[in-house]
Amino acid sequence: MPVPVFYSNVHFTGFKGQILFDASMKDYTSIKIGGPADVMVFPNDEDDLIMVLKFASSKNFPVFILGGGTNLLVRDNGIRGVVINLSEGFDEVLCRGDNRVIAGAGVRLIELVNFCREKELSGLEFAVGIPGTIGGAVFMNAGAYGGEMKDIIEKVEAIDLKGQKHIFDNAALKFSYRRCELPSDMIVTKAYLKLKKGTPEEIKKRIKEFRDRRKATQAINLPNTGSIFKNPKGVPAGRLIEEAGLRGILLRDAQISEVHANYIVNLGRATAMDVLALIAMVRDKVFKIKGILLETEIKVVGED
Ligand SMILES: Cc1cc2nc3c(=O)[nH]c(=O)nc-3n(C[C@H](O)[C@H](O)[C@H](O)COP(=O)(O)OP(=O)(O)OC[C@H]3O[C@@H](n4cnc5c(N)ncnc54)[C@H](O)[C@@H]3O)c2cc1C
Repeated sequence: MPVPVFYSNVHFTGFKGQILFDASMKDYTSIKIGGPADVMVFPNDEDDLIMVLKFASSKNFPVFILGGGTNLLVRDNGIRGVVINLSEGFDEVLCRGDNRVIAGAGVRLIELVNFCREKELSGLEFAVGIPGTIGGAVFMNAGAYGGEMKDIIEKVEAIDLKGQKHIFDNAALKFSYRRCELPSDMIVTKAYLKLKKGTPEEIKKRIKEFRDRRKATQAINLPNTGSIFKNPKGVPAGRLIEEAGLRGILLRDAQISEVHANYIVNLGRATAMDVLALIAMVRDKVFKIKGILLETEIKVVGED
């Protein structure tokens, strides 16, 4: 049920989306950890988004943009200001007929993989099994098995925190390993993908191959946030952690996964503090034993 108020007595005329107060970030992150967001806004379309951004900017409220929350650790006291959640609108996918696909930032990666398979377009198969949204995948330059978003993104549309629209082409995004250089005040609203025509058999085969590889190494049933650390050049972070003897170690309800040592799982009541302490312990031990300083891949946000 849309709520037409945003902040005490302020009303948004024409706002079509939803607004939640004190939204527990546990419900919006794959690791099921995090204190409350003061306000979570679900804009329905660009007009809604611009309205919210202009308002937040006029009040100097901080704004955080949430995708699927699958690469995120939110601290235990939550997020002050406004969290923008694009999952309710921004969900349109279009095929332009010249092997190009346009997807809203809130579209789930798996939906787009399936869409491309149906349209016999190849190039996104690597993303099967990567959770989260298109917006998050662009921002993180998500990738697996030799493929990454960088290879297929032609350009993105974005809106800045003052409500102005921008376009960034692939080169301007300066993609690198698990990151891009989108300015920090930009919200991706739409991505344009350039794919190749493929045969249904080839596409299905690649999807199955990637799915099977993932199942063999990452069959993790507990809440987690994907790889905690980036892989240093030439060696998987998981192997370093395992060789440092840390597989399976516990800190209260946070555990280095028994299945894949670069994952931390939440056994039920883990806090962000537990996960951060475990991360610090792993970095310290791996550095002492291997001489390599691991860099985190996950984004850590919010207040302690
Ligand atoms: C089980 C599991 C397996 C995973 N496997 C992989 C893998 O193989 N490869 C891989 O690369 N990752 C993997 N991940 C990590 C994660 O799924 C990806 O990084 C994903 O792309 C994050 O997308 P998200 O929508 O969840 O982003 P979030 O986690 O919500 O956000 C991540 C960052 O992106 C920013 N962001 C989100 N949306 C937007 C937007 N519209 N505009 C601007 N900024 C935005 C956020 O502010 C935040 O800084 C895995 C995670 C899990 C839980």
